[in-house]
Amino acid sequence: MLSPTSASVFLPALVVSSLTACYTAHGGDLPNPTLPLVQPAILPKPPTGATGSITPEASIAIVQRLADFGTRHTLSDTTSTTRGIGAARNWVLEQFRAAGPRLEASLEEFDAPVGPRIKESIKVANVVAILPGTDPAAAGRRIYVVAHLDSMNANIMDPHGDAPGANDDASGCAVVIECARALAKENLRATVVFLCTIGEEQGLVGAKFHADSARTRNENIVAVLNNDIVGDPSAPPTEGFPAQPEVVRVFSEGLPRNANTEQLSRLRALSAESDSPSRQLARYVADVAALENVTVQPRLVFRLDRFLRGGDHSMFNQAGFPAVRFTASNETYSRQHQNVSGPPQIGGGKARETGDVVRFVDPDYLANVARLNAKCLIHLANAPQSPQRARIITAKLENATTLKWDPSPDADGYEVVWRDTTSPTWTFARDVGNVTEITLPISKDDFFLGVRAYRKDGYRSVVAFADQATE
Ligand SMILES: [Zn+2]
Repeated sequence: MLSPTSASVFLPALVVSSLTACYTAHGGDLPNPTLPLVQPAILPKPPTGATGSITPEASIAIVQRLADFGTRHTLSDTTSTTRGIGAARNWVLEQFRAAGPRLEASLEEFDAPVGPRIKESIKVANVVAILPGTDPAAAGRRIYVVAHLDSMNANIMDPHGDAPGANDDASGCAVVIECARALAKENLRATVVFLCTIGEEQGLVGAKFHADSARTRNENIVAVLNNDIVGDPSAPPTEGFPAQPEVVRVFSEGLPRNANTEQLSRLRALSAESDSPSRQLARYVADVAALENVTVQPRLVFRLDRFLRGGDHSMFNQAGFPAVRFTASNETYSRQHQNVSGPPQIGGGKARETGDVVRFVDPDYLANVARLNAKCLIHLANAPQSPQRARIITAKLENATTLKWDPSPDADGYEVVWRDTTSPTWTFARDVGNVTEITLPISKDDFFLGVRAYRKDGYRSVVAFADQATE
C-alpha cells in the first residue's frame, strides 16, 4: 500500500493524502522502521508560469526561418544578410532582443581554435541572451537552455552547400528561442541563460569556449538543458521502431567527466556511480514532467550520449557543470548530416526533398519539448539553492542514519530523499522541516540518500547526493 511510483517523490499532496494522518510533517513520530517512509512534503503545487505562448506554429516557423538561411555551417558566409551563419546568428540575436527588454542579448565572439575541422583560426560567435534573476538571493545561480546554431551536410568541411539542419539543430534552437519568448517577462528568481552555440559540428568549440569561460569567471551554473535533435520522434519505417511522439530522451553522465583520480576513488567508495550532479538534474526533469503532467515525458537514459554521437552538454560536464541532453525518442540517421536532394519542398509527389529538411520536423512534438524545457527552467530558477555538503555521518557503527547539510540561504525547509540501491530514481521522501541535521530509522547501508531544499510556494531544488563524513 505504500509502494511508491517512479516519480512519486515530487508529487504533491494528492498522492500521499492518505499518509498524512500517520506521518505528520516537521518532526512527528517516526513510523515503524520496517515500513518505507513515504512522506513527501505537503507543499502546494508551485505556480506554473507562462508557457502558453509556446505553440507548434511559432516553433516550426523558427525552424523554417533557420533552414531558409541555406546553410549555417560554422565556416560559412558572415557578410550576406540572407545566407550563411552570419545572417542566421543576427536573426537569432534579433529574436532574443524582441522577446523582452529584460533579456540581455549579445554575440559572444571568439577565435575558434584550429583543429581537424577548423583549418585556420577564424572569428566565430555564440548567441547568448541572459535573463537576470529577480531575487538577489538567487540571481547568482544560472540555469541554461542550449542548442547549437551551426549545421553541416555530408561534407563536414563544406561551408557553401545547402545544410538546412532542420532537426539538427534548428529544432533545438526553436526550443531555446521559444523558451526565451515565454520566460522573458517572468519574474524568475535565478538567472536564466539562453544559448545558441557555434561550432558544435566542428568539435563542440562554441560550448567549450562558453563553458570554460564561465568556469574561469567562477560562475555558478547549476543546470544546463541541452536540446539537440528534438523535432522528429520517428525512425525510418524500415527499421521497425514505432514513433514515440510522447517521449523525449534525456541523457546524463554517470561518473562526472571532470572528476580526477582522487574524486573517482571516492565515488567508487560511495558506490555513487549513478549519482552525479547531472544525473540528479535528469531525475529532476522527470519529476517536473510528472508534476506538471506535460504531454511529452522524458525517458531517462543513464549514459552521456548515444553511440557514435556527442554534444554540447559534454563540454559543460567537462568544465564541471551539471548538464543533460534532450534528444527525440527516435532518430533517422539517414537524414542527419546529409546533402539535400530532390526538388524544393513544395507540394507532394514522389521526388520530394530529402535530407535534414523542415518537413521532417513535427511541430506539435517540438512545441511539447519546448514546453517541458520551459517548465524545467521555471522550477529550477525559482527553486532554493541545493543543500551544500550533504553528508551521512559515519562516526560510529549504528543502524540508524544521521544526515547533516549546510543551510541553503533561501530555503524554507528540506526533504530527505532515498531509494533502494537498485532503484534508478528517488522513490522515498520525508519532509524534515527547516533543520540541517536529522536522524532517520533507515539503514544507510541499504539505501542511497540525498537532501533537497524547498520553498513554501512548492519549488524544490535539485537533490544533493549525500556524501559520507565523520561529522
Ligand atoms: Zn546536433
